[in-house]
Amino acid sequence: MIYTHSIKTDHENFYNITSYVRQDVIKSGVQSGIAVVYCPHTTAGITINENADPDVVTDLLYALDKTYPDRREFRHAEGNSSAHLKASCIGSSATVIVENNNLVLGTWQGIYFTEFDGPRTRSFVVKIVKD
Ligand code: ZN
Repeated sequence: MIYTHSIKTDHENFYNITSYVRQDVIKSGVQSGIAVVYCPHTTAGITINENADPDVVTDLLYALDKTYPDRREFRHAEGNSSAHLKASCIGSSATVIVENNNLVLGTWQGIYFTEFDGPRTRSFVVKIVKD
C-alpha cells in the first residue's frame, strides 16, 4: 500500500506528520510490518524526534543553521546549498515498525517533514509493507 500526501510549508520548519502516517497504517489494515515515510525532494527531509517540547525543534533548526550556514564559496547557481546540506544531514526517509495496526514509536517521538527551502507545496510518500 502506498499513500501520497501534499503539504504546504513555510520558509524553514519541521511539520509533525505522525497522524497522517498513523491513519495510513489504519487504512492499510496491516497488523504487522513496516512503514517507510519518504520525502521526494532535495531540500527537505524526514526525521523522527521529540513531539512534546516545541523548543526541541527550535533548537534543531538553530543548530542546523549554525552548522550549515550559507557560504559565499558555494557554487550551486540556485543559491540554496545550505538547504541541500541540511536535507542530506537529516535524510530523506524514516522507517517505523508497525505492530497491532499501529506505529511503534516512543512516547516522545514524532515523525517530522523537515522543510529547508520553502515556502513550497511539497509531498511525502508512505509505503506500508506487511510481513
Ligand atoms: Zn538547489
